[in-house]
Amino acid sequence: MDMETLRLGSRGPDVKLLQSLLRRIGYNPGPVDGIFGSQTRQAVIAFQRDNGLVPDGVVGPATWGILEKFLRGYDNYTIRPGDTLFDIARRYYTTVNAILTANPGLNPLNLMIGDTIVVPYGIDVVFTDIDYTYDVLERDVAGLKARYPFIEVGTIGRSVLGRNLYYLRLGRGPNEVFYNGAHHALEWITTPLLMKFAENFARAYSTGSTLRGYNPREIWERSSIYIVPMVNPDGVEIVLRGPSPDNPFYNDLLRWNDTGRPFSEVWNANTRGVDLNRNYPASWEEAKAQEAALGVDGPGPTRYGGPSPLSEPETQAMVNFTRRRNFRLVIAYHSQGRVIYWLYKNIVPPQALEIAELFARASGYEVSYTPAEAAYAGYKDWFVEEFRRPGYTIEVGIGRNPLPISQFNTIYNNNEEIMLLAPLV
Ligand SMILES: [Zn+2]
Repeated sequence: MDMETLRLGSRGPDVKLLQSLLRRIGYNPGPVDGIFGSQTRQAVIAFQRDNGLVPDGVVGPATWGILEKFLRGYDNYTIRPGDTLFDIARRYYTTVNAILTANPGLNPLNLMIGDTIVVPYGIDVVFTDIDYTYDVLERDVAGLKARYPFIEVGTIGRSVLGRNLYYLRLGRGPNEVFYNGAHHALEWITTPLLMKFAENFARAYSTGSTLRGYNPREIWERSSIYIVPMVNPDGVEIVLRGPSPDNPFYNDLLRWNDTGRPFSEVWNANTRGVDLNRNYPASWEEAKAQEAALGVDGPGPTRYGGPSPLSEPETQAMVNFTRRRNFRLVIAYHSQGRVIYWLYKNIVPPQALEIAELFARASGYEVSYTPAEAAYAGYKDWFVEEFRRPGYTIEVGIGRNPLPISQFNTIYNNNEEIMLLAPLV
């Protein structure tokens, strides 16, 4: 991945990523605040000294090159004479089991000199304390796949600007469920929520341990958990980095955001100003009819349903993916209010309310009826209407979007059990 050079005075999501990583691997860059100050510089210099780099305190291509291995969470290691897995594990602060998990078929008693193996570092892959940009997502998806090769990884399509819409699959059982996040760009905290769940679930599966009393190996055989962690990557990039001048919609975006407030505070739509969760073919016309009353007259930060249902590649990909599978239940994650929505119109799929109540008990969230301004054209609305099976919009966290990443641990703890229950109900 091409990373920009960072130095004293640099700011932004990539500085946060650098700071978070340096902390993770034992340096002290100061707070993870996205401001490259003197403490961050000192930590970079220490890292450069330890890794045989020129200790100039500037993070250029050579330093990023070494950092990249830690960012993705593993190294490719070539076996040398006399190596044992135990020694390699110790050198990388990891475990023999982690190495065996990442290298199926590797015989620890017969290491072949010259063979290259994946050696995971003894650190987590998924970042949960920084701006979760598309780059971070891509790297974390690759990092999880390398460490846990039994995770199926792929794409369901591409965004307007050609970014991958990644999916992960945990499990190989016939009971299929589906979780997705970040339809709304401001609600990107739902992406690390899903990614962290994937990491914890895969780790527990690989070690044979339980998660909150649930047995991932049992779930793995019985069910398949599909996850699309970021439905709207173009929108998330607009929120986290601001619109880029090389975005073909750059001038449109500046015009469409007539709120007088920065994109980082208001932009929920994709890069064409379409609110993806009002673009599904479920009472789309009714949603459209509300727009004038909501002050919407075309593309913009929120609530514009697009020129026609499924006008956007992101919603098309979601619908196609859903139709090719046989989901017993879906959860669309949003981030506004610690509430579980389950009803669409007057359609009550079998068990839908009972399951909502289970989720409420597991999370401490409230089961609620859908407010009128969010009643139509969303993903769960479409799913419930087309399949007559349980579909949920779960709103995590509390406060104004974007929720601060400092809420992450609370949100994760509220939702982990929901994600373990859903494949079993
Ligand atoms: Zn939302």
